[in-house]
Amino acid sequence: MTDILWTTDEAAKVVDGTPFGQWECTGISIDSRNVEKGDLFIAIKGPSFDGHQFVHAALKAGAAAAVVSHIPQNCRQDDKLLLVKNTTRALEDLGRAARARSNAKIVAVTGSVGKTGVKEALASVLSKQGKTHATLGNLNNHFGLPLTLARMPRDCDFAVLELGMNHAGELIELSQMAQPDVGVITTVAAAHLEYFEDEAAIADAKCEIFAGLKKGGVAVLNADNSYFERMKQACLTQGIDNIITFASEQDATFNATSFENDETENGTFISANIHGQPLDYKIAHDGRHWVTNSLAVLACVEALGADVKQAANDLAHLSQLKGRGAVHTIEISGGSLRVIDESYNANDASMRAALDVLSHQSGRRIAVLGDMLELGPDEIDIHKNLVGACKKIHLVFACGPLMKHLFKALPAHQRGAHASSAEHLAPLVVQAVQPGDVISIKSSRGSRTDLVLDALLELQ
Ligand code: ATP
Ligand code: MG
Repeated sequence: MTDILWTTDEAAKVVDGTPFGQWECTGISIDSRNVEKGDLFIAIKGPSFDGHQFVHAALKAGAAAAVVSHIPQNCRQDDKLLLVKNTTRALEDLGRAARARSNAKIVAVTGSVGKTGVKEALASVLSKQGKTHATLGNLNNHFGLPLTLARMPRDCDFAVLELGMNHAGELIELSQMAQPDVGVITTVAAAHLEYFEDEAAIADAKCEIFAGLKKGGVAVLNADNSYFERMKQACLTQGIDNIITFASEQDATFNATSFENDETENGTFISANIHGQPLDYKIAHDGRHWVTNSLAVLACVEALGADVKQAANDLAHLSQLKGRGAVHTIEISGGSLRVIDESYNANDASMRAALDVLSHQSGRRIAVLGDMLELGPDEIDIHKNLVGACKKIHLVFACGPLMKHLFKALPAHQRGAHASSAEHLAPLVVQAVQPGDVISIKSSRGSRTDLVLDALLELQ
């Protein structure tokens, strides 16, 4: 049986609301399309939507009750409701109360890239050692975090929370709500740069993840990052001296001494040095960035008081995430194609990481690249400057106005084709591929290079 998350009396007390009817909920939802039986549906009001319009649909879909700030017109007399002043505030109150009542060890994950990847890997290895709750998908903002907390089972041992931000100050509030025992910054790089003066300002904003760190909590920092000293200083200034470091280039508490690709299947063998002790393990992912991410995961495991060796063994069995490095083998006449799907997101750091992974593949290496968005005033240069990172790529197919700058800067023999959009590029890529090719598809989500993947998948 699914655990009861909130009873009527508990929820009414936490949100200071008036209940209509008695109920118990086993989940929380703010989207009527995803309501599951037993959920408490919270009718959030946004600038362009009002959840109150969907209360009826949510209850019909099996919601145990709905949290509302007024009684919607089409409600029936016996509908179970919880009337509050402000539904967004009610969600936050439930999140805070769930945190306060929980004995779980909580880790908050932030960074310019790799949050979801590290969160998923960490949640997966921790779940082998205790009941683990984690952010679903990318629900990392001021709705996603309280929602994730409010959904946290009463008896879980660990919780892994992804915290994201676009602007300075946002993480302070989120961290204070999460009150993590451990905070980790995967990396700092040019992402959402249009909202920041420079990268140093991004590093400072990431350090806000420690604003709500529990007394005696642990900060986990990336010693390879050029802002490492700045971040360390920010921790010390906030009175946090329990710092664990991870790195694959520099010295660190969790440090990779060497790593190599598994030639027989996807993945990487890593020789690490942890507190001066050797540890060899394998991960299911490719690329140096994943070597570093895996060390971040293990550092968090230690900081949470879980078993590092067991976690290191479990890293070999993770599944790759859709759009973030998942590999497809596509059978076509005469052989097969290998397609690395990186279409979920891109910024300069993750683009370079993906090009590096592709550069180490055998076969004809093809990059399908779409625009990276939200990069601010240097966006053209950031695209153009990828020429060096493409050196070992045989053919580049590009789409979008920004990638055109890279495409034009490439030597003629590397130019596959450029098109205005991914939709127009897809048939050109399909026409060009041959058995034995390795194709990496990468862009910001808005550039829709997933359409190129879809077109390639249709070949089989
Ligand atoms: P978002 O801001 O969309 O939530 P995120 O921080 O959660 O992004 P992921 O979704 O985990 O990041 O990964 C985004 C992309 O970055 C993926 O293509 C992934 O392979 C790549 N990536 C993951 N970790 C790193 C890293 N440490 N350095 C560079 N690229 C990385
Ligand atoms: Mg994410």
